[in-house]
Amino acid sequence: MPHTLLLAAPRGFCAGVVRAIDVLDQVLEREEPPVYAFHEIVHNRYVVDSFERRGAVFVDSVEEVPEGACIVFSAHGVSPEVVRRAQERRLRVIDATCPLVTKVHLETRKAARDGFDVLLVGHEGHDEVVGTTGEAPERTRVVDSPADVRALADGGRPVFVVTQTTLSVDDTAATIEEIRAHYPQAEIRNDICYATTNRQAAVRALAERAGLVIVVGSENSSNSVRLREVAAAAGATAYRVDGLEEIDPAWYDGVEVVGLTAGASVPDELLDLIIADLRERGVTQVEPVVVATETVEFRLPEELALPVIEA
Ligand code: SF4
Repeated sequence: MPHTLLLAAPRGFCAGVVRAIDVLDQVLEREEPPVYAFHEIVHNRYVVDSFERRGAVFVDSVEEVPEGACIVFSAHGVSPEVVRRAQERRLRVIDATCPLVTKVHLETRKAARDGFDVLLVGHEGHDEVVGTTGEAPERTRVVDSPADVRALADGGRPVFVVTQTTLSVDDTAATIEEIRAHYPQAEIRNDICYATTNRQAAVRALAERAGLVIVVGSENSSNSVRLREVAAAAGATAYRVDGLEEIDPAWYDGVEVVGLTAGASVPDELLDLIIADLRERGVTQVEPVVVATETVEFRLPEELALPVIEA
């Protein structure tokens, strides 16, 4: 059984997730439920379940929201088409899109306006990619691998490259290298965010020392899934779980050092349960593995800057 637990630092909540959760939390304090949110506020089952118990209703279409009601846009952002349809229904919008995702939207919109074809490196169908593509759907193509780049037909226009914020740093480097080979003049922005980059560096450091790495995060959380992949690529046995209940104690057999981390949408309390369980199983040493210190904070949207008015 393990005697040592290595804790990745940083791990868990990023500034964009903290902001999105604070937004929905404050809206639930101010409004009579139900409060609507477009898509999961962040990709974590525990967080979403907790908000549902307080009266949040997560929808995949603004048409599900009654006219004139309040809707919160999730951290992953939405396309201008969703904004337009929300306006048509006279919805009161509070936008919890992470500012680092908004930056990618603005880059995409400007590039298309300036006459570029946009290559968006990302996972087709992910909420963030759908939203960003919607800024210039006729000009944007999504590529997820070097093979996707090789299969592209030349659009005849200069190329501008943006990326999803939560990609694997290493996989993205390979895709961007292929883009450079095909489009030497391409203007390239690497938009993988600080939180994704730091968490991947930290899990790589864990994997160098731990025989087993456990990543906490939901299966639809892109950055959590990437963390497990990075740990596995670095040579550790790695599992992604939603929480303690999904851990099979047999994974600990023959393991002396366990590494633990969490995706950017995962609350600390889920890790605390796993840490307590490991202590009960005999872990005596808990050691942080620090690769970066994060100080990023985002302000709440202006709509929430007013004080709460008690009835
Ligand atoms: Fe923003 Fe990065 Fe967090 Fe996504 S992972 S919400 S882009 S800080």
